[in-house]
Amino acid sequence: MKLAKRILFALAFGVIVGIIINSFFPSVFKPLDGYVFTPLGTIFLNLIKMLVVPLVFFSIVTGVANIGDPKKLGRIGVKTITFFLTTTAIAITIAIILALILKPGLAGSFSTENLEYKATTAPPASETFLGIIPTNPIEAMASGSMLQIIFFAVFVGLAISLLGKKVEGVGKLMEQGNEIMMFLVNLVMKFAPFGTFGLIASAVGSMGWSALKAMLLYMLVVLLGLAVHLFVVYCGAIKFMANRNPITVLKAYLPAMAVSFSTSSSSATLPVAMEIAQKKLGVPRSISSFVQPLGATINMDGTAIMQGVATIFIAQVFQVDLTVPELVTVVLTAVLASVGTAAVPGAGLIMLAMVLTAVGLPVEGIALIIGIDRLLDMTRTMVNSTGDLTCALYVANSEAKKDAKLAQKTTEA
Ligand code: ASP
Repeated sequence: MKLAKRILFALAFGVIVGIIINSFFPSVFKPLDGYVFTPLGTIFLNLIKMLVVPLVFFSIVTGVANIGDPKKLGRIGVKTITFFLTTTAIAITIAIILALILKPGLAGSFSTENLEYKATTAPPASETFLGIIPTNPIEAMASGSMLQIIFFAVFVGLAISLLGKKVEGVGKLMEQGNEIMMFLVNLVMKFAPFGTFGLIASAVGSMGWSALKAMLLYMLVVLLGLAVHLFVVYCGAIKFMANRNPITVLKAYLPAMAVSFSTSSSSATLPVAMEIAQKKLGVPRSISSFVQPLGATINMDGTAIMQGVATIFIAQVFQVDLTVPELVTVVLTAVLASVGTAAVPGAGLIMLAMVLTAVGLPVEGIALIIGIDRLLDMTRTMVNSTGDLTCALYVANSEAKKDAKLAQKTTEA
C-alpha cells in the first residue's frame, strides 16, 4: 500500500479502536494507552519534532539564497502576509456570521456558576513583534522560537546570495543540509501510520462523550465554519488564484492533513507539508520553504474560526449582546490572537482569553469549551496547515506569471 493510504487506514483504525475501548472496555484504556498508544504517538511526534528546527533553518537559508534578489524577496513577503491576514479575517467573519445565525450558546441550559478558568496573560503585541529579532540565534534554535529562527535564516540566506562566490562553500553546505533533512523526513514518515494510530486511539479513547452531547451545536458550528473555509475559500483560492485543480491538490495533501489531525500541531506537520508541496505539487523550494514555516507560525485560520465561534457562544451563554463595533473588535483581536498562537496543541484556546477580554466577556467561559476542544483542535489544525499550502501555491503561481512576463519582455527586446 502507498504511504498516504497506510496513514489514512491507520487513522481510521485508531478511531475505531478508540471508540470501542471508550464505549465497551473503559478499564483497559489506561494500561493500553500507557504501554501502547501514547508511546507509539510520542515516538512519532518526537521523531518529527526532531527535524523541524534544522529543516526550517536549512530550507529558509537555501530558499532565500536561491531567490537572491532582495526586491523579489520583499514582494513574496508582502504577498504572503497579505494573503495570511486577509484569509484569517475572512475566516473569523464566516465564524461570527455562522454563530450569530445558528446560536449555539442558546441551544442548551449552560450553567455559568462555578466556572473556573485561569487565563495566562498574553504578552502585548508590541513585545511579540520586537521579539522576532533573536538576540541569540542559538538560543532561538534551542528553544524552537520559530519566528526568530525564520528571521535569522532569512538574513543568512540574503548574505549567502549577496556575497556570492566568496561563501560558495557555506551555500553548498546549507543545500546539502537541506537534502539530508528532506531525506530524513521521508524516513521518519515511514513510521507515520503507527504514530497516527497511537495518537488517535489515545485521543478518542480518552474523550468524554457526555460532555460532547451538551456542546454538540457549538462543535457543529465550528466544524461547519472549518468546512466552509476549506472547501469554499481555500478551494476557490487554489482554483482562481493558484490556477490549480483543488481536488488534485487536496488529494496529494491528504497525508499532511492526516498528520495535522493526529498531532494537533501545525509545526509537527511542517516537514511532511513542505515535502508534499515541493515534491508532489511542484511549489519551488524557495517559495515553499519561506511561506510554509512562516504560515505554520502565524497563519491559523482554523484557530481563528474556533475563536470567533467561541466568543459568540460565550456571549450568548452569558447573555451579552455584542454590538457591531464590538464584533469588529472581535475580528481584529482574533486576527492578532491567531497570529500569536503557538503551533502546538491547545494553544488557540489560551489565546482566546485575549479576544474575550477585548470585548469584556468573562474568560471563565473558556471552561465550558475546554473539555471538547481536543477534537476541534485536531480539525482546525488541518485547516491551519492547508491554509499555508494554499498561500504557497498562490505565491508560486503569481511569481511564475511574473517571471514569464519578464522573459517575454526580454525576448521581445
Ligand atoms: N493546534 C493548533 C496548531 O498547531 C493551534 C491551536 O489552535 O491550538 O495549528
